[in-house]
Amino acid sequence: MLWTAGGCALSELVSEGASVMFTKSTADGIQGIVLDAVGTLIDPSPPVAEVYAAAARRQGVHLEVAVVKSRFQRHFRDDELDEARGPLATDEPGEYRRWRRIVTSVLGEVPDPRRAFDELWDHFGRPEAWSCFPDVAPALRAIREAGLAVRIASNFDARLRSVVAGLRELSEVVEPVIISSEVGFRKPHPAFFRAACEGLGLPPDRVLCVGDDPDTDVRGAVDAGLRGLLLDRHGRRPEDLPFVTSLAELPVPRRD
Ligand SMILES: [Mg+2]
Repeated sequence: MLWTAGGCALSELVSEGASVMFTKSTADGIQGIVLDAVGTLIDPSPPVAEVYAAAARRQGVHLEVAVVKSRFQRHFRDDELDEARGPLATDEPGEYRRWRRIVTSVLGEVPDPRRAFDELWDHFGRPEAWSCFPDVAPALRAIREAGLAVRIASNFDARLRSVVAGLRELSEVVEPVIISSEVGFRKPHPAFFRAACEGLGLPPDRVLCVGDDPDTDVRGAVDAGLRGLLLDRHGRRPEDLPFVTSLAELPVPRRD
């Protein structure tokens, strides 16, 4: 069995300065891959801030997209931090309330925040609101050809199921999608990763988790006994985590 990454042998990969690209041990012996959804496979298109600003405009409130973007980043991050300080327990009503809090905070000026929330909740539950990154389809094909099991595993709610089902690139990994609101715990809680491994029918040490968040996707996975690999799409070059910059570099074993 050979290991390839982005078309070159793993032995050709080197560390870049203090950054740690993945090594063979990151993926040696894996039999399954767990992929995060948002930021890893899919991206909101048009961007979140534009969609929120348009919802405000429909109620006669004109907000700069840059202002909305800054507010969204702050309130989303604060909400995530609050969650991380708590038990990381979740369910469908909890996710619904969480997004109502975020929308209400970001669009504080709109006269009918409930209407804005309903519109945005519906929008982001539709596949047309999302696009797949261009490296997704080839990576899924390589994973499949390598004979590896694969699951999408996301901090999301049941809407993710219809989003995934409607995106052609993801059609072959539609089910079962592992969703935090259905598991009962959000990443990085170990119960989430246990559920993902059970979904794959594999022990944690045979599973590689790949995602764009260092804490929830990589450190959380490693703490739960999986391997973890950061997808560093934006060149942040983490100093202490194995990473790839594209799904084209995924360490997929090739059976020869
Ligand atoms: Mg993500």
